[in-house]
Amino acid sequence: MEPRRITPAEKIPGLGGTTVGDFWAWAYSDILENTARGIFAEYLVGSALGMVETVRPSGWGAFDFRYGGQTIEVKSAAYLQSWHQTAPSVIRFGLAEREGWEPETNTWRAERMRQADCYVFCLYAEKDRSRFNVLDASMWQFYVVSTERINREMGAQKSAGLSTIEAMAKPIQYARLKERVEEVLSGTGPYNSTGTGVSRGVREPGSMGAQATVDGETSTQEFHDTHYQDAQDDYLRWLLHNPRGFVMNLKTNRWAVLHESGCMHIADYSDPNVSLTLKRKVCASFDEPLRAWAQTRGVEWTRCRTCLK
Ligand SMILES: [Zn+2]
Repeated sequence: MEPRRITPAEKIPGLGGTTVGDFWAWAYSDILENTARGIFAEYLVGSALGMVETVRPSGWGAFDFRYGGQTIEVKSAAYLQSWHQTAPSVIRFGLAEREGWEPETNTWRAERMRQADCYVFCLYAEKDRSRFNVLDASMWQFYVVSTERINREMGAQKSAGLSTIEAMAKPIQYARLKERVEEVLSGTGPYNSTGTGVSRGVREPGSMGAQATVDGETSTQEFHDTHYQDAQDDYLRWLLHNPRGFVMNLKTNRWAVLHESGCMHIADYSDPNVSLTLKRKVCASFDEPLRAWAQTRGVEWTRCRTCLK
């Protein structure tokens, strides 16, 4: 059930004139306290992205925001704490892998992984208790890092200190947060560095398959929005011409689900505004070239439980 958004002025039935705002003031005034600070950091990120008109999703999801079909995890830290301190806290951000819900196979994945496509690390940077105002967005710094990069550089590490984060991303202010999130999610961010510098070019007309990757003897074709605009059109055309083919749906750079061409999971997303080729699709007439493709790249994969039982 979708929770209804309530307003601060709403009366709490049975409590005289007491309002929801009174409850919130009591519950959340200590924003520096860890739980409230984490929620406030999510609010700052959601606000920058224009995603706070609804109700905060419940905490058990595999990520904090779904933005344009990609997912974002928000982490927060602060030098100041609500309890008495003799020195500012040492900054550490959690980035542990965890189990996640996998809608394509309708299971919890036993293998632990980082679920979101990127992380936003939010640091309340004020160290002077006399100037403390955690609500002041200008005192927050944000570091946006692709999950791919975290996986590559951090492996299974469960947390990272500030210097590690700063080696992967420069701090930015709230005003630039939306832009940076979009850069990192689209793979064009200066600190996204995958080493390959894939550009979002425009495809030559009629060059269907021009982006095909040939693996030795066997040929596979890749369709991915970071390769060129309208990759989805070519992907849909490939599906049409290869009704008995196979498709690796890359969930991350290291993990994929193998489907048959006709499977609903790879052709019929519920959100028409989300490109089917936002997640990389690697296609072939037979499954063997796809197995080889995955093996060469160290991509782990599972069979779709709907089409390949
Ligand atoms: Zn399938």
